[in-house]
Parts: sequence; C-alpha cells; structure tokens
Amino acid sequence: MSATGSLFGLAYGDSMGKPTEFRRFEEIVREYGPAGPSDLPEGALVTDDTQMALAVAEALLEQPAGRDPEPEPLIASLTKHFVAWAHSPENNRAPGMTCLRACGGLAQGRPWTEATQRGSKGCGANMRVTPVGLVPGLPEDTAAGIAQVQAALTHGHATALAASDLTAFATRWLLAGMAPADLVPALRERCREQRSVYQGTWLGDDLWRVPGRESPQDFIAHGWDDCAAVLDRLAAALVRPEPEADPCLATGEGWIAEEALATALLCFLMHPDEPVRALGRAAATGGDSDSIAALAGAFAGARLGMAAFPAGWAGRIEYRDRLARAGAVWDRQ
Ligand SMILES: [Mg+2]
Repeated sequence: MSATGSLFGLAYGDSMGKPTEFRRFEEIVREYGPAGPSDLPEGALVTDDTQMALAVAEALLEQPAGRDPEPEPLIASLTKHFVAWAHSPENNRAPGMTCLRACGGLAQGRPWTEATQRGSKGCGANMRVTPVGLVPGLPEDTAAGIAQVQAALTHGHATALAASDLTAFATRWLLAGMAPADLVPALRERCREQRSVYQGTWLGDDLWRVPGRESPQDFIAHGWDDCAAVLDRLAAALVRPEPEADPCLATGEGWIAEEALATALLCFLMHPDEPVRALGRAAATGGDSDSIAALAGAFAGARLGMAAFPAGWAGRIEYRDRLARAGAVWDRQ
C-alpha cells in the first residue's frame, strides 16, 4: 500500500497502453497474445495521462503544509500546472481536445468557469485525478471537492465530476487497505449517498447553471446517475468475468469518464493480486487503452505498492524522478 506504488502504477499502465490506444482489440491480441503485453514498451514513454496526473500532484504539493488545501490557491496552482503542461514541448502524446481547448482559455487568463468545456465528459479529468486519493489526512469532503474541481477546470460536465470523485475515492480506499471485493459496493453506495451533494465551496455557484438543470442538486445528480449505471454493468460483469475477452464489451470503451473508471476497475478486479496481468489486459482493449491501463495501474499500485511490479521497471519509466518525489512526500506523512 503506497502512494509511490500508485503513481508508478499509473505511469506503467499508461506506458503499456500507449502503443495500443488507437488499435482494434483483435489486432492487439494478434501481436501480444490473448493476455496482452507483459512488459513496458521500448523507451517506456507515457502519455498525457501521466503528464496531467503529475500536474495535479505537483499542484497539491505546492499547497501550504500542515493545513487542508483551500479552493483559491489550489485552483491557481492547478491552472498554472495545466497551462505549463499545455505549452510544454512534451505535450505531443495525443492529448485530448477538451484539455487543449480549456487550457487555451486558461492560458489567456479567462476564469476557469468560462474556459471549461461544459459539455465534455471525456475521460481526461479522471485519468489524472488519482493523486488526490493519495494525499494523507484529507477530510472526505475536501478530497471530494478537490477531485471535482480539478475536473471542472477542463471538463464541466456533471458526469466528469462524479467519475473523478469516484476514481479518487477508489484510490484512497485501496491505499487505506480496503479489500478489492468491497470496492464496487462502496462505490455504488457513494453514488447513492452523494447523489444530491453539490460541492459548492469548490465549484462555486455558476457551474451548475446549464440548460435543463433546475438546481445544483439536480445538476450533479445526473452525473452520479451515469456513474451508478456503469457500476451496475461492472457488477454484472464481475459475476462472470471473461479474462480473455475485450473488457470494453462489458463496461465500455473508456473514452468517456464513467466508462474509463468502470473498465479500469474491471481489469484491476479480474486480477487484483497480479498487477502485470491487470495492466496487460487493460492495455489490450479496443478502447482508450492508455487511460484504462493508467487507472488500473493506479488502483493496483495503491493496493500493492512498488514491490508488486517488476523491479526493473522503476528505472526505465519516463518521469521516474517526478513520480518518486511526489510519492516520497506522501508516503512519509
Ligand atoms: Mg493518453
């Protein structure tokens, strides 16, 4: 159980899914075999998923020590790191359009409530949220507010907010030692319990004002309902898992937020004690393979720690110094 394990697990999955992201399932298994890849690719480069997760992690690390992060300074740090990512020459890893558009607005100095893409529930917000689940000692409501507002900077859709919240909480709970078998029931319970909770302290009083939504509670309930529906599909898939089939057939291709969460969980939960198998499966999917594998890796690493992955991987993965630095701060606390 470690923050370092989760950050490296995210990067390992992202790297394994990078060469397979835009390829068909049949083509991937023809090349790698039915279980998918079992090693990092040559060069072990990652994609925008890890780059943006590092942006979130480093914004969190910038907050004053000894007290809980507060909305205004944290949003300023997130904005700074997202814009730096957008302008970086290393931002050449098939980044999502929603992030590029929103970061363009943020870079011009527009407030995030104007820069955000309100119609987008792409997976770009929850593929980067797992570091929020690794910060020690955050009160639940603060963790929820941070998970959602980091999403809201680019993806203003209620489902992107709810899926980011659940993704952060899955990571947090696994880090705290929750048994894998308890995870889906706990996430479904959270959908029920949070259904009418709008994190106004963090999200402000404007984001929910979209056509067809009557109140903040009504706005966010639609997001939780989308997540609850895909968790129903996940629970059904786990009754009779098919480890050699394309997981996307059961829980979706993962281009959208709630499906990325569910399909990543499916890969992780089919192999909760074998992270390399979980990542191989997640990388060999017909959908958004790098994001699915990145999340599966973050879950597996939070639960199992660094020792569960092959020893040689840590010295090969791109951004290993930044991943190690963030993990060391949180594992020490
Ligand atoms: Mg990516």
